[in-house]
Amino acid sequence: MDVLTESKTVLITGASAGIGAELARKYHARGLRVGLLARRQDRLQALETELNTKRPGSALGLTADLSDPAQLSAAVQKMLGTFGRIDGFVANAGFGVAGRVDSLSVEDYRRQFDTNVFPVIHGFQLVREELVKNRGFYCAVGSVNSYLSLPTASAYAMSKFSVRALMEALYWEMKPLGVSVTLACPGFVKTEIRKVNNRGEYREHAKEPVPEWLMMDASVAAGQILRAIERKKPEVIITLHGKILVWIERHFPWMLIPVHRGSAGAREKWNGDKNGP
Ligand code: NAP
Repeated sequence: MDVLTESKTVLITGASAGIGAELARKYHARGLRVGLLARRQDRLQALETELNTKRPGSALGLTADLSDPAQLSAAVQKMLGTFGRIDGFVANAGFGVAGRVDSLSVEDYRRQFDTNVFPVIHGFQLVREELVKNRGFYCAVGSVNSYLSLPTASAYAMSKFSVRALMEALYWEMKPLGVSVTLACPGFVKTEIRKVNNRGEYREHAKEPVPEWLMMDASVAAGQILRAIERKKPEVIITLHGKILVWIERHFPWMLIPVHRGSAGAREKWNGDKNGP
């Protein structure tokens, strides 16, 4: 029996960078075949080649903008056509729209939800049948902002709160059907996300506003997400500062008043950058 064509598969969105690319490497190292979805074809091709060099035919680049439901749907079909099955789906792709509520348009909020929320619902609906058949898993990447909304972070936090609400319901809907559902909520991870502007475009020379010492390595974060999925955990909070913040928000939210007061000013300069070219 051909081990390769028999091996399980996982589709990872946002696999051209950061947490998604590291997750793809980790699942691939576990022997799974991986579908790599993102918009930047050059990045996907490089990762596809890296993985296929190790095991021919084990990685498939799926160039798609998932804010367009037709492109997401076509990518899932291509994955099924090539690998013949889908055992897992990680809805990881995302970016952040930043700015005060009075400085953002409804269109800014819509754009945030078009990438961070609706594809998480649509992606699930597209692979549901496969996951039930294969007793697979569905994971979405939320954030510490799934619990905490700070000044100038309303759009991003709204999107991540929504993903948490979706995943909590989905966990209980799918449990009786043998599909495990996991929400991963990272704190600061060292990736490109804070160099992406409010239109979802990566700017190589933008400044990283978070100090190096506070950020977890993307590979470490990906490893923790993978372990949580394997253990069928409903939720995992990634990073120590993330765990502490979520715990405080749950039990003593008043303790975060200084964080709310302080963050508006601290984020002002960065928000200017996010709205820039
Ligand atoms: P990243 O390095 O910027 O990677 C984001 C990925 O999403 C890229 O592969 C990007 O690929 C893809 N993507 C963005 N918009 C897309 C679209 N419309 N269609 C298809 N793909 C799209 O950021 P990351 O930190 O790894 O982010 C991964 C997830 O972790 C996100 O959901 C983010 O909200 C969450 N998160 C990150 C942190 C952190 O500190 N890094 C903290 C909390 C939560 P293309 O540009 O090639 O399309």
